[in-house]
Amino acid sequence: MNNSVGKNNRHVRNMNRIGVISLLRDYGSLTKAEIAAKMDLTFTAVNNLVEELMQEGWIMDAGYDVDAYRGRKPKLISLNPDDIYTIGVHVDPTFVRAGVMNLQGNMIMEERRDFEDNANRGSVVNVIISTIQAVLDQSELKSRIIGIGIAAPGPLDPIQGKILSPPNIPGLHQVRLKGLIEENTELPTYMEKDANAMALGEQWYGNGRHFNSMLYVNADMSIGSGLILDQKLYRVSPFGAGEIGHCTIDMDGPRCYCGNHGCLDAMASGMAIINSVNEKRLGTHCSHESSLVNDQHGLNMSDLIPAAHDGDPNVVQCLINSAQYVGIALANIMNLLTPETIIIGGSLANQYPDFFEHVKETAYKRSLSSFHNQMVLQPSELGEHAGMVGAGTIVFEKYLSEMGDKE
Ligand SMILES: [Zn+2]
Repeated sequence: MNNSVGKNNRHVRNMNRIGVISLLRDYGSLTKAEIAAKMDLTFTAVNNLVEELMQEGWIMDAGYDVDAYRGRKPKLISLNPDDIYTIGVHVDPTFVRAGVMNLQGNMIMEERRDFEDNANRGSVVNVIISTIQAVLDQSELKSRIIGIGIAAPGPLDPIQGKILSPPNIPGLHQVRLKGLIEENTELPTYMEKDANAMALGEQWYGNGRHFNSMLYVNADMSIGSGLILDQKLYRVSPFGAGEIGHCTIDMDGPRCYCGNHGCLDAMASGMAIINSVNEKRLGTHCSHESSLVNDQHGLNMSDLIPAAHDGDPNVVQCLINSAQYVGIALANIMNLLTPETIIIGGSLANQYPDFFEHVKETAYKRSLSSFHNQMVLQPSELGEHAGMVGAGTIVFEKYLSEMGDKE
């Protein structure tokens, strides 16, 4: 057998292992014959997959199908929610959240800690590690936790496990976070750009189920996205893809921290909204580039959505403008890629439903109708938990793939 055929077979087998888990996640319990029919595989192939996954602890017997029409009642299979757990960690520019998650995507327990303003490298790393340690110490499931997944702001290098230079969290620049966490917890650790992890979480446990292709947009302090194509996270470059935040929306727009002018991030992110609200309030110019690393005077991110809910007309207008810019960027992507669904998450959309409505209206208005009629634009189902759930999912996905690679 030549090498590429072997590799391809392994890839198909890994996809099938993940496929069985996805079906059981969606349907609860199924017979082997039902799995074979839904996956278009032979009964023997499914039998082998089920046996393997059962031995590894992912799935279990779930009684008999009493509704079977006649003859011997077939056995049902379901996920085994109590055998394998992960820790999902969401590193946000202002806080870290860690939780122990089972295979059904349920958080058994979680812990959240805030970073101090302008925290230095040592302090940020300490808060992250002590939060993970607190979850591990409180959990009675320690021996069943197979690994730790980290969703962190990009750019980052998931292979080296190193954060590169995310503008909103200078305390983590060039930090080899994966190695530090592994040294402290002795658990294998995997890292992914936050929007990628959120896309994966939404695909496994949220509104992205049942779709082959999906764009997830994280509209938060900055704007990022993750792409699922053919049911797989699109990871063409080790440093990520789908940087929707740096699509140019206005060629004469404000300078972005990436060096370009008029990026979506510089026009529509939470930081851009705060800058434009503060410019009006304080009467001074706030640059997108410098405000990301400097002290904020006036409104800050945690005040933004409450101010909109209180009806501050300036804040509401800035949020609507931002949603329209995001809608324009999405219309371009819809015309280019026609993903089956687009999910809008992040605190701007999760906490202010009008934001989502304005994004949707603009995206529909500006994309080709023959395309957008086939697509579903929806809010995030996982909401504020998307980062943590997505981070935990990275580990499940990794293990299901790697164990399948062993033979
Ligand atoms: Zn940019």
